[in-house]
Formats: sequence, C-alpha cells, structure tokens
Amino acid sequence: MSKKGQTRQQIHHPGTRVERSGIYTCDAGCDHSTDVKGHVFPPLPKGCQAQGWVLLTAAHPE
Ligand SMILES: [Zn+2]
Repeated sequence: MSKKGQTRQQIHHPGTRVERSGIYTCDAGCDHSTDVKGHVFPPLPKGCQAQGWVLLTAAHPE
C-alpha cells in the first residue's frame, strides 16, 4: 500500500471540497494550518512548498 514510505495522510488540494471540518495543516512540515468548515480548502500560504492540506484535528469525529 505504501508507495514512498510516507505517511498515509490524505492530501487535500486547495480548491477542493472539504469533506470533514477540522483543523488542517500543510504537508510541507512548516507551521501553516487552517480551520475549514465545509467549504473548499484555501490556497496554501505564499512560499509554502506543500502540495496540499492534511487533517490535523477533526472537528467532529464520527
Ligand atoms: Zn506550509
């Protein structure tokens, strides 16, 4: 299942629909985070090398 030995976190690209509200962090390992609530993922901060957002804390775990 693991292709690159990376984590199995799903990357959500900016502009795609948010399926689960919560706090997301960029996948580049810097300290960017965003709190999304059912809309679309925001663009990554300027200069951020990440490909997208990964879930850090779900607002309402099911
Ligand atoms: Zn970042």
